[in-house]
Amino acid sequence: MTPKWKPAKNIKEAKKRFKDLGINEVSNPAFSNVPKWGDKEFIDEVLNPVLKELERISIKFPAFSKALKGNKLKGLEIYKSQVLPRGFVGDIDVLGTYKSDFEKILMAMTNSSKWEKPLLSVSRKSYTVGEDFKYVFRHELGHHFQDSIIQSDDVILNAKGGNFFKLWKKVGIDKDGSFNSDISKSWFKKNVSEYSGTNSAEAFAESFSAYTSSLYKRGMLPKQVEKYFDDLIGKE
Ligand SMILES: [Zn+2]
Repeated sequence: MTPKWKPAKNIKEAKKRFKDLGINEVSNPAFSNVPKWGDKEFIDEVLNPVLKELERISIKFPAFSKALKGNKLKGLEIYKSQVLPRGFVGDIDVLGTYKSDFEKILMAMTNSSKWEKPLLSVSRKSYTVGEDFKYVFRHELGHHFQDSIIQSDDVILNAKGGNFFKLWKKVGIDKDGSFNSDISKSWFKKNVSEYSGTNSAEAFAESFSAYTSSLYKRGMLPKQVEKYFDDLIGKE
């Protein structure tokens, strides 16, 4: 029996619960013409829905939770906007980004009830494996996880089923036996999502977001990707 999830009563409590799980600071920044959230909507529409997702995956994947607590995310900035303000990520519309130099996640989020529509699509038909804020949050957490934890620590890397880049290379072997990153890209595009075919970092973040989704069912990801995440975070 899992006890019923309890929302944080106020911003202070929510921030503490984030911090306890490895996200040091959650903020409500204003930027250019993007206004700040009001306190009530910030706790109801933003902090609690995101906290619920973080607490869910922290309980379900203790190895991930332990790693996040050991390599904390310095900040999570959530903008009251349909897409992130231009300037953070260049001239394109995105819902989230991971700033590795600052170890911060920036997310755009409005109307979480609308965005809460759960969706998981692991197939060539979709651009990304999800569309809601939970998908974006998990995807960006995946970048932090890969950047700060796996690649920087050979011990963890070897102990937990090897480097993701090995998998990336393995699926990209050409007929003559040499590695061809275009083959890896098309393989991920075909088997995970269009966006996962961008590069190995996006392949990791997309696969991580799918694997940790509440809608994930065994066999949705290709078996070698599923096994990689089983070894990394799926077993205690
Ligand atoms: Zn990404």
